[in-house]
Amino acid sequence: MKTYKFLDLAEVNAPVMDAIAEATARVVRSGCYIGGPEVAEFEKMLADATGTAHAVAVSNGLDALRLIFRAYIELGIMEPGDEVIVPANTYIASILAVTDNGLVPVLVEPNPDTLNLDTSRIEAAVTPRTRAILTVHLYGRTCHDAEMERVAHTYGLKIIEDNAQAIGATDKAGRPTGSLGDAAGFSFYPTKNIGALGDAGAVTTDDAELAATVRALANYGSDRQYHNIYKGLNCRFDPIQAAVLKVKLPMLAAETARRKALAAVYEARITNPAVGKPLYTDDGDMVWHQYVVRVANRDEFRQYLADNGVQTAVHYPTAPHHQPCMADYACLSLPISEKIAREVVSLPVSACTSPDDAAEIAEIINAYKPND
Ligand SMILES: *Cc1c(COP(=O)(O)O)cnc(C)c1O
Repeated sequence: MKTYKFLDLAEVNAPVMDAIAEATARVVRSGCYIGGPEVAEFEKMLADATGTAHAVAVSNGLDALRLIFRAYIELGIMEPGDEVIVPANTYIASILAVTDNGLVPVLVEPNPDTLNLDTSRIEAAVTPRTRAILTVHLYGRTCHDAEMERVAHTYGLKIIEDNAQAIGATDKAGRPTGSLGDAAGFSFYPTKNIGALGDAGAVTTDDAELAATVRALANYGSDRQYHNIYKGLNCRFDPIQAAVLKVKLPMLAAETARRKALAAVYEARITNPAVGKPLYTDDGDMVWHQYVVRVANRDEFRQYLADNGVQTAVHYPTAPHHQPCMADYACLSLPISEKIAREVVSLPVSACTSPDDAAEIAEIINAYKPND
């Protein structure tokens, strides 16, 4: 029986193996293993790709987000105890960036069609302590609209983008994610659309003061050597990852097109009424980091697919407010997020999957009959 892999990172990186070997050898030969020109060049590439004035490469996506909040605190724009509106349906890292800074996440339900923050619910969640909206472009779908901007403008809120899953996406007007709010965090975790060979992340912003503060905080809080203006962290980004990402970032448009082609096959071919397909668009506002279907009986459906050689994943099986570390939120009732967490299944969209594979997977899905 044929196996349809969900993701095999060695296979994903095999086509660029030689270029990566050459780039990483260059770093080894340079003798510069922290900072330096490779990092500066990657930052310039990312800022250009995002259309922002500044990019600061940092250790990972969670650190990118937590450094943004920490920088706003150091700049006197937020203080511990202030509230941040966050989507209730997200990967928990988005929320940890808030709580790590002593800020208070206010969870807002998603739109059941997009699975992203329901922007019509933001205003009702605003209090005198609200300082920011953390928008997450979940699964690669842009979450930013005129209503979010109106609320942010009316109440003087920062918009911070969690762009870990949506590099290369745009809003309806064609503006790139990572440039839509006041600042954005990117992740280059190996499984993301552009993945490093380890942890890596970045902050993008047009705000020079914020960029400089993030940069200082990520390097022990120093603005120059042995001069510490903040009690900072070590969240630096390695030149070896810069060298890898300088090979991979130019492939973003092709990678996005590849994912869109697979999503188009699933959209056209999956016809089983027991399987809810994601809201489909072939605009730039969805880069299909995941192709997520919804089924009532997830375990049975995944077992059926596994029995037919199709590997799947679940992003994410537990709503953040039901995680043990969020015990003080456990009493919240967030039925839309809870239902999503029970039903979602991610189908293969990696470079291990061809359009023909996707058509075969769709056929297998169409032959699925729920036992009920
Ligand atoms: C991956 C991810 C992060 C965290 O990125 P890391 O690089 O793994 O720290 C944050 N938010 C979302 C939505 C993610 O998918």
